[in-house]
Amino acid sequence: MNGLQLFNVAPAVPEPVRFLETLTRNLWWSWHPDAQELFRRIDPHLWRQTGHNPLAFLSGVDQRRLEKLADDEGFLEHQRQVRERFELEVESVPAEEESCRSVAYFSLEYGIHESMKIYSGGLGVLAGDHLKAASDMRLPMVAVGLLYRQGYFEQYLNSEAWQQEHYPENEVQHLPVQKVFDESGHQIEIELPLPDGMLRAVVWRLEVGRIPVYLLDANLPGNPPPYREVTAQLYGGGRETRLRQELLLGIGGYRALLAAGYRPHVCHINEGHAAFLSLARLAHLTREEHLEREAAIEVVSRTNVFTTHTPVPAGNEVFRVDLLRPHLEALEEQIGIPADEVIAWGSPPHQPEPAELSMTILGLRMSHFNNGVSELHGSVARRMWSFLWPKLQEDEVPITHVTNGVHIQSWLAPEMAQLFDRYLGPQWRWHPGDPEVLAHIEYIPDDELWRAHEVIRSRLIRTARERMTQQYQRRNATRAELAQARSVLDHDALTIGFARRFATYKRATLLLRDPDRLLRLLGNDERPVQLVFAGKAHPADEGGKRLIRELVDFARRAEIRMRMIFLEDYDMYVARRLVQGVDVWLNTPRRPLEASGTSGMKAAVNGGLNVSTLDGWWCEGYARENGWAIGRGVEYEDLDYQDSVESQALYNLLEDEIIPAFYDRPLGDLPGNWVKMMKASIHMVLGRFTSHRMLAEYQDRFYRPGCRDFERLTEEGARGARTLVEQRRRFEAHWHEVSVEDPVADRNIVSVHVGDSFAVSTRVNLGSLDPEDVDIQLYFGPVDSHNRMTRSEVRSMELEGGERENAHRYRQEVTCRTTGRFGFTARAVPKGDEWRKIMPGFITWAGEG
Ligand SMILES: *Cc1c(COP(=O)(O)O)cnc(C)c1O
Repeated sequence: MNGLQLFNVAPAVPEPVRFLETLTRNLWWSWHPDAQELFRRIDPHLWRQTGHNPLAFLSGVDQRRLEKLADDEGFLEHQRQVRERFELEVESVPAEEESCRSVAYFSLEYGIHESMKIYSGGLGVLAGDHLKAASDMRLPMVAVGLLYRQGYFEQYLNSEAWQQEHYPENEVQHLPVQKVFDESGHQIEIELPLPDGMLRAVVWRLEVGRIPVYLLDANLPGNPPPYREVTAQLYGGGRETRLRQELLLGIGGYRALLAAGYRPHVCHINEGHAAFLSLARLAHLTREEHLEREAAIEVVSRTNVFTTHTPVPAGNEVFRVDLLRPHLEALEEQIGIPADEVIAWGSPPHQPEPAELSMTILGLRMSHFNNGVSELHGSVARRMWSFLWPKLQEDEVPITHVTNGVHIQSWLAPEMAQLFDRYLGPQWRWHPGDPEVLAHIEYIPDDELWRAHEVIRSRLIRTARERMTQQYQRRNATRAELAQARSVLDHDALTIGFARRFATYKRATLLLRDPDRLLRLLGNDERPVQLVFAGKAHPADEGGKRLIRELVDFARRAEIRMRMIFLEDYDMYVARRLVQGVDVWLNTPRRPLEASGTSGMKAAVNGGLNVSTLDGWWCEGYARENGWAIGRGVEYEDLDYQDSVESQALYNLLEDEIIPAFYDRPLGDLPGNWVKMMKASIHMVLGRFTSHRMLAEYQDRFYRPGCRDFERLTEEGARGARTLVEQRRRFEAHWHEVSVEDPVADRNIVSVHVGDSFAVSTRVNLGSLDPEDVDIQLYFGPVDSHNRMTRSEVRSMELEGGERENAHRYRQEVTCRTTGRFGFTARAVPKGDEWRKIMPGFITWAGEG
């Protein structure tokens, strides 16, 4: 139709309920079921139809309905309660201003709510939980990401059970984002020079409680089509698009923060994707704050935090230099760093002509605070990256761990939250790990806990039936099939959930290894068991798609089709229903490939019991009283053999322990021992696996020290940073002059006893360096049969005196406290612990060179 002009008419919200509009503009509602209920009760049908998206919802609500609400006493009281909470948590000014002004968190994806489709899975959901906890804890944080025009794909299966992908459009008018303006009132626009011209992006602001999230958007008429592609799809497009996404996130994102008036003290690189931010930080410090390049490097690297999320090699991003170089050259004028230098930063040391840049290496090199996401993953990451610090023992590689945690209020079922309010007291929301809170878990009456859980399980089953019906309708199923879909699963049966990305290492089909044994389990009518699966395969992962097909084919057998289902389109909504409603959460990753995993924590805090291989977080969480371990946490060479052993172990657990425990009902219909395990499970999560605990660790161990370092290094014309530069230059020029002689004991140590002490001394030549620059360390500990030190203890040796010029004698006492085979040696390192973290580091061992 010619000349057709389109516009939308939204209802005029009456004054008494105008707070609803405020509420739609901040994702705070996404972790407050009370607030969601406020929307839902207006029009439950429309709420569901609009995908629980308050903006889409409110723009579609009938005007008369809103006018009615304006004098509905019950509704207004409900609104008042939500509003009070909102004002307290979001709008009130913190009692004490943090001295540390801001931590900037960068991530390629954020999983905050299913209606905000800028996430794909675990990494994004973790980032979302991170921000929510930061808001609850009032940390001075700001976040940066990309606004994709299409969300991660929606999954559906065709009639051959083969995964199909559909990409939903994110309609900006239905997202709670607002354009961002600078101080002079101009809309902020970021320009990034690329090889074939300028990439432009505008910036949107999203509110997550108290935390603003700045999202860059390149879908502008002024951009040529390939540039608009940059923010078209999360993880979509080829390598070039991905590279541009990461340049936009890191460099563009940092510049967006500057334009919006932020001067972050600490930047958190959430996975290698965001590692380019260091380049923009350096450019800012050199160009606008007038630091020399080397001083800027000291500041940036000492105030960056880098979190690596996967030990799977393919998950650690690399870019080919032939693709990357033209991009870095185009950017050179703007950031002032030669392409070769950036490429060298992202490559192993002393590599003459690297063919690719590793975003993980770039992240590690430009951050002094590095971590993996569980204790096991920390040690795997140290081994994986130890080649970057060839002279350090593996246990000293500067990558630590902060075990992931989950945001309890986002994942806890409302019925459970009510029990927690009543028996643990309101503090569980703010201080979930408080010993007082934990001690009260015991006071929740068993029958109340069990009834609540049964109500929640029933909700899962209703959701499963609805979705199965929709799935069958989409595939034009017969009437009989539809009737079955409407009544799958049993409200009282032991319900086992398995939902995650269908990556092959997660072994979704481990339970199918002995089909007859599984059929017997599922076919038992006395003690029924049912299985609910969900999860997406990466669009390019044929192997993952085959696993889905295998599961669905199996579940179609007539004798079990009411007891085993696959729910399509796993997202945060399906995840919530599942983790809240299942009795058992199953996880079967091949150790040590699951860095952490978090879905098991979500299930556990709802009273679900985990059954998992000892990988990721479960190595830390598992105890006999709170769940089950499949196998003994060993790593195998022969993968097929491993699958065989671990699937047997899983069947045995199910048959001998899990099913009997669930159906052991001495007190009428209450499974007493099971309920005890549920409480232990809740205790474990609240005590150790919440995002509050995780944030407190990042804050105490990284953000606060990083902020202090930022101030210390940049004040008084960056005197601190310049001192470090001089020190580093001195080390670079003279470290090779340092040598340490083999240390000797002052007595015969062929036979020593527990309690004996002896002195060790060594001679050291410091060349042109001074004793004030260098720490001589005694390094000792137990030794294994290969003469490798297994657990080292490091102590500074005392300077006894100079012998000749530059040659000094050092000494230290050793006390033998336990029996065993021990060894000692000595080494020279720069004074001040931080230098160990630079790559490859200055270090000279006794007898070296
Ligand atoms: C929690 C969550 C994940 C991460 O779970 P894993 O334990 O890593 O599998 C992935 N996707 C969604 C939607 C989630 O809610």
